[in-house]
Amino acid sequence: MQTQIKSIGDHSPIQIVQPVAGGDINQAYYVQTAERNYFVKTNQHVPANFFQIEANGLEKIRATNTIAVPTVYHYDSSDENGEMVLIMEWIEGEQTSSTNGMLGENVAALHLADNSSSYGLDQTTFIGQLTQENSLYNNWVDYFREKRLTPQLDLAIRKGRMNGERRKHLEKLITNLEQYLPTFPRVSLLHGDLWGGNWISGNKGEPYLIDPSIVYGDHLFEIAFTELFGGFSADFYYYYQNVFPLENYYKEVKPIYQLYYLLAHLNMFGESYGSSVDSIVLRY
Ligand code: ADP
Repeated sequence: MQTQIKSIGDHSPIQIVQPVAGGDINQAYYVQTAERNYFVKTNQHVPANFFQIEANGLEKIRATNTIAVPTVYHYDSSDENGEMVLIMEWIEGEQTSSTNGMLGENVAALHLADNSSSYGLDQTTFIGQLTQENSLYNNWVDYFREKRLTPQLDLAIRKGRMNGERRKHLEKLITNLEQYLPTFPRVSLLHGDLWGGNWISGNKGEPYLIDPSIVYGDHLFEIAFTELFGGFSADFYYYYQNVFPLENYYKEVKPIYQLYYLLAHLNMFGESYGSSVDSIVLRY
C-alpha cells in the first residue's frame, strides 16, 4: 500500500491504517499519512480489471457534474503483486436535514444529463461479485432481455436455482418483455447498484455516490432498485420528482426492474431470495 501511495506523490509515512466495515466484497481501510486521509480497498480474488471498472464508473458519473463522487487517486489493474489496491479520497460527514433532498435532486440531475444515444454499456461491469456483461443497444427492451434477465436465468439454471414453475414463468416474461417495458425510454446514465449502502455523506452533509455499476438505461430501473431494500427517505423521492418526474407506468415496470436485482441475489446468496423472485415471476 505504501508503494501505491508513493506513486501518487504522497511520500509522507503512513500513520494510521484502520479497517472499515460495511463492504462485502473487498477489504476496506481508512489510511492516514502525514499529508492526507484515504479510503483504500484491497482484494486478491477479483479479476484484474475490477478496480479499473469501479474507477471508470465513478469518473463517468463525475463527468456529468451533477453529483459528488470520491476522487480516485490510484487503481491497480494487475494482480502481479499478489493483491490489488484502489485508493480514493476519504469522505466523512454527518447527514443534515437537506442531505436526502439533495441526493434526490442530484440523482435526478444525473439521470437527465445527456450522455449516450445507446442503451447498455461498452464494458463488462460487476453486480456484487457477478460479472455483468454488456453491449450497446439501440433498444432498451432487447438490452434488458439479452444482457440482464436472460444471463441471470441461465446462471440460476446452472446453479440449480430455477425450479420448473419459476423457470416457466420467467421464460414467458422474457419472451413477452415488450408488452411490459418501454422500448425507447430516455437514455440516462444510471449508478446501477443504488442501494442504501452505496451513498455516503461528505463533511457538509452533501451526498456522494460510491461503488457504481454504471449502465445507460431507463431511470425507472434505478428508482425501482432504491425501493427494493430501502435506505431512501420520502424526501429523496419528493426532490427527485421535482427535477425528473416518474412516468405514470412506473408501478407496472417496477417489479420487473426489481426482478433483475432479486435474480442476482438469488444467484449470489441462494434460495433465501427465491420467494421474492417467485412473488414477481408468477404474475406473468
Ligand atoms: P465494497 O466494494 O466491498 O462493497 P464499499 O465501496 O461499499 O465496499 O465500501 C465499504 C464501506 O466503506 C461503505 O459502506 C462506506 O461506508 C465506506 N466507504 C466507501 N467509500 C468511502 C470513502 N471514499 N470514504 C469513506 N468511507 C467510504
